[in-house]
Amino acid sequence: MRVLKFGGTSMGDEHTWRRVLEIIKTYDRPIVIVSATARTTRQLVAAAELAAVDFGRASTMAIEIKERHELLIRNFLDRMNDRNGNNINELTEQCERWIEDRTKTLLQLLNEIAEEGNLTSRLKDAVAGIGEQLSSRLFSYCGSAFGLQTSWVDARSIIKTDSNFGNANPDLSLIAKNSEELSLLSAQGMIPVMGGYYGEDSKGEATTLGFEGSDFSASLLGSALDAEAIEIWTDVSGIYTCDPRIVEDAFPIKKMSFREATEMAYFGAKVLHPSTMNPAEEKQIPILVKNIFEPDHSGTIIRGETGENGKAKAMTFLKDVTIVTVTSPHTRMGYDFLSGVFKVLKDYHLSVNVVTTTEASISLALSSGQIHADMIDSMEELGEVQTKDKQGIISLIGCNFETMEEVSGQIFAAIPKTPVTMISYSSEKKNLNIVLPENLLTSSVQAIHKKLFDR
Ligand code: ADP
Ligand code: MG
Repeated sequence: MRVLKFGGTSMGDEHTWRRVLEIIKTYDRPIVIVSATARTTRQLVAAAELAAVDFGRASTMAIEIKERHELLIRNFLDRMNDRNGNNINELTEQCERWIEDRTKTLLQLLNEIAEEGNLTSRLKDAVAGIGEQLSSRLFSYCGSAFGLQTSWVDARSIIKTDSNFGNANPDLSLIAKNSEELSLLSAQGMIPVMGGYYGEDSKGEATTLGFEGSDFSASLLGSALDAEAIEIWTDVSGIYTCDPRIVEDAFPIKKMSFREATEMAYFGAKVLHPSTMNPAEEKQIPILVKNIFEPDHSGTIIRGETGENGKAKAMTFLKDVTIVTVTSPHTRMGYDFLSGVFKVLKDYHLSVNVVTTTEASISLALSSGQIHADMIDSMEELGEVQTKDKQGIISLIGCNFETMEEVSGQIFAAIPKTPVTMISYSSEKKNLNIVLPENLLTSSVQAIHKKLFDR
């Protein structure tokens, strides 16, 4: 059994829907996870945010989403005929009823937000998950019209989470138990189709798994079902050496370890949700990243150690970084000082990308969005604080200690006059991070890629 996940780019329009169904058709007993159709989640979140101040405009957006889905369905189903033993008219009506139903719920939620006058994280999640609720059930109906034995499964009955809205933590044992329903369907020859990204907490409130959460849903199911593989289908042929939108010469990486893929996601590659690898690694289930437009391309396989000993496997970058430097009032940092700094990180739930220290000070590279006055005040109680904003981080993933000298030599040869702000190398995690002014980020990424990854 394999879990196949199709992202927003694959759910774009009736043509990609057909393409995806052609791919699904080639599998024996697949489990299918889909994202919302392209742009929908973003639009839903925008409507939720708008509803508190302008219900009229928010509801116009809801109607836009409704009409877009109606059009997609019509475009898809109108070209199908009844030869598969399914009544297309009936399927069209079922689709329309579901769009009607979800739009009604959406408008009710937007109204609730308007009445409260502000957007709570609970309501935001309730709205955000509607994209997948729509796409998954409609896609399942279209699968039937296409001649597949698809059966829609509401993720709320499977993906149970805590109540950490916006970034909910899955309850693995409940998910394992609930997934039996999917095995049963599959054993009966059905193809379960479930929406990714959303789930439900113990009180029955809708939750979401965070940005790009459908990848995570897929690996949660893959692990719960002991799948043979988890396949992430997208619009590029695997994980590239660098973001192909920035680096023209980037190319797909054949194999990566779970850790390398996690590091990549953590350090800014927007291909996979960073938590995706955890459930898969636990059960040593390989993750494949493949392209719906080039299905014969082997793409990238992510699994246990790859045994490779390369110079560097991939590079990523992050924008909007601020460096906070705290200098101890004493000539040396004591452990009181250091533990104080880390306590502030803990108190404010800050995740740090890069840390360096000198004898008397510590520098932390943080996403700029995490910086606020209270946090800086708390740091000032420990020592003198300086901040430097408009920074970016370049991360080299999968380096090896043995080749480090060579790699760093090539990097600095590639960006000879760049005023680097910070450098860190973690031998254990095998990555190298360079912090530099944000305006030099893109050109530096391109120059380093050329030097290190030239084929
Ligand atoms: P999906 O809708 O399938 O989830 P995403 O937009 O989340 O797709 O991810 C695929 C996109 O990620 C690609 O179109 C590509 O432009 C972008 N991307 C950024 N960095 C990388 C990378 N290192 N490798 C591959 N794709 C990347
Ligand atoms: Mg994605």
